[in-house]
Amino acid sequence: MYQHLDIQGNPISLPAGKVVCVGRNYLDHIQELKNEVPQQALLFIKPSTSLCSLSKPILIPKNLGSCHNELEIAVLIQRPLCKATPEQVAEAVWGFGLALDLTLREVQDKLKATGQPWERAKAFDASCPMSGFVALTEIGCEPKNWQRLRFGLKVNDEVRQQGDSANMMRDIVSLLVEITEQFTLLPGDIVITGTPKGVGPLQVGDKLSIYLTNHFSIESRVI
Ligand code: ZN
Repeated sequence: MYQHLDIQGNPISLPAGKVVCVGRNYLDHIQELKNEVPQQALLFIKPSTSLCSLSKPILIPKNLGSCHNELEIAVLIQRPLCKATPEQVAEAVWGFGLALDLTLREVQDKLKATGQPWERAKAFDASCPMSGFVALTEIGCEPKNWQRLRFGLKVNDEVRQQGDSANMMRDIVSLLVEITEQFTLLPGDIVITGTPKGVGPLQVGDKLSIYLTNHFSIESRVI
């Protein structure tokens, strides 16, 4: 069973909730997949059954085409948020981690082409490997500190993704305000904030190294 952990590995006493996901929030990634810049935030949801630990071996689906890495900043919510103001958002965040938004790319392309929802490509079991969370006190309680988070993914010792929250098209507070216009966030829910460029297929046996600069680095492996 998945349980939210802090970065030392201690359990956080919040339930595992839904994961609200943001698409197309970094211009470099929009360009690499030749998508259009969305007029409003592109949102979808992964269920709590998509959560698993990023520190344990990452099981990717077989025989469904390529499974892509999308490394994203994850925000853990500790208070209910409904039609929230920026001030309420600032008080509702427990902390930050990193998530892989695993994506079956060919499955997604087919769903997109036929106008179907993306869940089969993105919401399957264990499609959201999650790191431990760094408490807000370590990151800085002022939302301006949230837009200075640098992170990255190496696959077999080669840099594949490098991100900086400064380059988000919608910052974290704006995203949470917009999300809670339509989806109430509950304690234990997570918001993942979009991927920078560098998505690509993962292969069984790949060695992953994932880091949030100045905070943590995690080694994992694809099985
Ligand atoms: Zn994503």
